[in-house]
Amino acid sequence: MDFELSEDLRMLKETVHKFVERELIPIEMESMDGPDLKPQIRASLEKKAKHLGLWLLDVPEEYGGMGLGHLGMVVVWEELARTIALPPRGPGVFGPDVRPVLFMLKPEQKEKYLLPVLQGVKKTAFAQTEPDAGADPGMIRTTAVRDNNHYVINGRKRFISHAAGADFLQVVAATDRSKGTRGGLSMFLVDADTPGFEITRKTPTMMGDVTYELAFDDVRVPAENLIGGEGDGMRLAQAWITAGRLYQACRGLGVAQRAIELAASYAPQRVTFGAPLSERQAIQFMIADSFMEHQVGQAYVYQTAWKADHQKLARHESYITKIFCTELGFRVADRCMQIYGGMGLATEMPIQKMWRDSRSFMITEGAVEVMRMVLARQVFRLYS
Ligand SMILES: Cc1cc2nc3c(=O)[nH]c(=O)nc-3n(C[C@H](O)[C@H](O)[C@H](O)COP(=O)(O)OP(=O)(O)OC[C@H]3O[C@@H](n4cnc5c(N)ncnc54)[C@H](O)[C@@H]3O)c2cc1C
Repeated sequence: MDFELSEDLRMLKETVHKFVERELIPIEMESMDGPDLKPQIRASLEKKAKHLGLWLLDVPEEYGGMGLGHLGMVVVWEELARTIALPPRGPGVFGPDVRPVLFMLKPEQKEKYLLPVLQGVKKTAFAQTEPDAGADPGMIRTTAVRDNNHYVINGRKRFISHAAGADFLQVVAATDRSKGTRGGLSMFLVDADTPGFEITRKTPTMMGDVTYELAFDDVRVPAENLIGGEGDGMRLAQAWITAGRLYQACRGLGVAQRAIELAASYAPQRVTFGAPLSERQAIQFMIADSFMEHQVGQAYVYQTAWKADHQKLARHESYITKIFCTELGFRVADRCMQIYGGMGLATEMPIQKMWRDSRSFMITEGAVEVMRMVLARQVFRLYS
């Protein structure tokens, strides 16, 4: 067993670490304008990132990217999550946000949808969640009905990030409701200017992210806009969601790392009742537990990413990373807030934003209870 990162990945981690220290942390309290990075800041950071070779990192080499695997992306994501300078849910500053599913398109679809996204000409959004189908995609009511060489889509979507400004959406709809998630869902590319598609409501959140409600009323899409085959929707969504779970785990790791740095540097300086906080056992335990839990989480995430890269990933492992590390991020941010006292609540400090962001990751893209439910099923299967 070799627990060392390769020389290349160590250098990459170091480069991203320095980028975060020099370029992102100094501007993190003023980089955002609502849910988005300020345009001039984005342009400047993207230029610097390109110069450092930090561009299209997870895009396969055949499309001009660096072709990094899961472990490579994990070391990048955990470093980036140490700062609140960037939107918590993409797009970052290392190139357009390309969801893995776009690489599974047919050649002619890639021409129209994938390549313009890679070139930064088109933007996309992923629409699965509905008013009655959040944690449980089996309840999806949006339907896509074949009509000669078109599908006609009808339904509502909720909580969709980046829908405003998207040129096209990747929409999950039921092609056979009787089959539910077992072959009844399909995924479609829907151009945002298709008649019948409308953004009906905006839902701002406590993290600053804004999500949207969408209406599909007799939206006709060409049959070739079906991604994969009929019934492949869940399989395709899972392909994205597995990488998404590792991403969210890394958010937890990065937040925990930064919170430990902040708390461990503050506690020795702050004196109460005649002694620094760092000499109080209550505080020492918080720091020790945070450090210990972070080390354990990081080792497990690295191992899971390595297994994913070597096709050795067991189904339950990405669930564990998501549950353990999203809860870790929130718990450690919470302890850091407690150690800082009133300053931890001040909006001039990053801690409250780290706390709010990390709370949200325990709900989105698989609530931790649902992850535990699926994990428990795996455990019962293993031992019964
Ligand atoms: C900021 C943000 C961005 C998002 N972006 C997108 C996006 O781009 N695209 C997209 O499709 N969706 C997106 N979502 C939706 C997100 O994935 C859902 O909110 C999430 O899946 C939970 O669904 P829900 O909110 O309907 O909660 P519900 O399904 O109503 O669940 C509510 C709570 O019930 C509990 N629960 C549910 N089922 C069980 C169970 N079986 N056992 C025990 N407890 C359970 C959990 O605690 C859960 O948090 C986004 C949401 C947010 C907040």
